[in-house]
Amino acid sequence: MTELLALLELQVAAKDAHISTLQDRLEEARAVHEADDRTITALALELAALQVLLQERDATIASRDDAIHLANNQTQEAWIERDAARAWVRRMHAEHQTLTCVYCGQAYPPGTPASGSAVLTAHIAVCEKHPLRAMTVRMEQAQQQLEALRTALRDGVADGIAAPASQVNE
Ligand SMILES: [Zn+2]
Repeated sequence: MTELLALLELQVAAKDAHISTLQDRLEEARAVHEADDRTITALALELAALQVLLQERDATIASRDDAIHLANNQTQEAWIERDAARAWVRRMHAEHQTLTCVYCGQAYPPGTPASGSAVLTAHIAVCEKHPLRAMTVRMEQAQQQLEALRTALRDGVADGIAAPASQVNE
């Protein structure tokens, strides 16, 4: 009996040791699990912080896009204003331009009758220094000479002294 009891006590001691080992392993497993939980929590916090940073960056990009869009609009408005100003300057220049004859220097300031290029066309006909005027004068002189010759010829024929007798009898 005593031997049997001693054997049983040994077996119980072995079981206790085994249970103690299992408890140690359970503690280790719990510790690892808690460490994992802390890691997971830390990672979640880091992720949340990153999401905040991403949102801030998106907001910055959006505001920059708005600024670029606004600058584009302002640039286009400035172009339109510039073009309008140029057109105005051209119009004012045309309206206030003094037309001048390059041959005699006769000037036709704005406000003179028959404004525009038509006034120069009219002036060319009477300009004393324009080449066309000189040609017109020479042509008029030539016509006058021709007319004088015709008159003289007609008068000579009528008087019977300017032309030979053979031509008179034709
Ligand atoms: Zn002139």
